Amino acid sequence: MKYDRVYNFSAGPAMMPEPVLEEIRSELLNYRGSGMSVMEMSHRSPVFQQILQEAKADLRALMDIPEDYEILFIQGGGTVQFSMVPLNLMPRGGKADYIISGHWSRLAFKEAQKFGDVQAIASGEDCHFSALPDYSDLPVREDASYVYICENETIHGLTYPTLPDTKGKILVADQSSMFLSRPCDVRKYGLIFAGVQKNVGPAGLAVVIIRRDLLDREIDPQVPVYLRYGIHAGQDSLYNTPNCWGIYCCGKVFRYLREMGGLSEMARRNEEKAAVLYRYLDSSKLFHAAVRKEYRSLMNVPFFASTPEQETKAVAAAKAAGFDNLKGHRTVGGLRASIYNAMPKEGVEALVQFLRDFEAKEMKGA
Ligand SMILES: *Cc1c(COP(=O)(O)O)cnc(C)c1O
Repeated sequence: MKYDRVYNFSAGPAMMPEPVLEEIRSELLNYRGSGMSVMEMSHRSPVFQQILQEAKADLRALMDIPEDYEILFIQGGGTVQFSMVPLNLMPRGGKADYIISGHWSRLAFKEAQKFGDVQAIASGEDCHFSALPDYSDLPVREDASYVYICENETIHGLTYPTLPDTKGKILVADQSSMFLSRPCDVRKYGLIFAGVQKNVGPAGLAVVIIRRDLLDREIDPQVPVYLRYGIHAGQDSLYNTPNCWGIYCCGKVFRYLREMGGLSEMARRNEEKAAVLYRYLDSSKLFHAAVRKEYRSLMNVPFFASTPEQETKAVAAAKAAGFDNLKGHRTVGGLRASIYNAMPKEGVEALVQFLRDFEAKEMKGA
């Protein structure tokens, strides 16, 4: 690869598109004649205003976000959203229903339980998250304020083939590790959020897409000012100093995705890429995928070898060959290849060739 870069299979922070990094570099010291870097710029300046407005407009066009939804940029990553969602959408001591499909939905669920009567209405814990729980007829409570899902479980490698029927309640989705990986019908959600360091830009920021009427829900006056969606919406994400650099980089990626053909083109490439890896894993005698076919993520692919020793050996050999960050999450073990939007198909093909060669050597040794 150019610049001696490696194929980086990290789950996050993760790869960004190379043309975007090059463009950012070209603007680093003097942004478009402003005489300064975006890192040095007032967030109230007209130059930054334009960066912010263009980023929002490009994201709106890319996802076809209807006018009655607000786009917010909030610091604190995905994790702060685990608290903001219940604090803003559920009355104090109210009810909310969660589907537990892996690590990240379980964390969000535990956080929300601090603030009200929050229940798990389905859980994949019984099968160790190798499949989604049955969500065909959910016991959604009559007075639940919302139904919460993590649409792509980054650690366990699961995704929803179809959205659940929430029986009229608003759907809240954590899309952190699949944001902009395929077209999304925003109208089906009340709120979408995504920590951007998985599939978009540098860490330190979450994008929140929220239906405007949800901003009017009455919330506890004790809720800290920074944790109120209404405050961020009222000030166009400029209540305090935002992560200007992060917004700028994300804006570059939004524009890049629009110019390369948008989210249906992105989805086509992602499906093609993931198929290369899953096809190999399903035919391998050494490695196997962790998740049942119908729930497999296109972004995060956890897999196992026959023994933990082989896994350790494979991760080390892969790193030496220029395939970085393939070690599985410590809670799951095995290997994991995160193949987000910015991972080129050649990277996945090269990885599969490496794994094939590794397998052949192991089998000969056995
Ligand atoms: C990484 C991740 C988070 C947490 O994001 P931070 O920005 O580290 O707080 C939340 N949800 C999902 C699905 C993630 O992948």
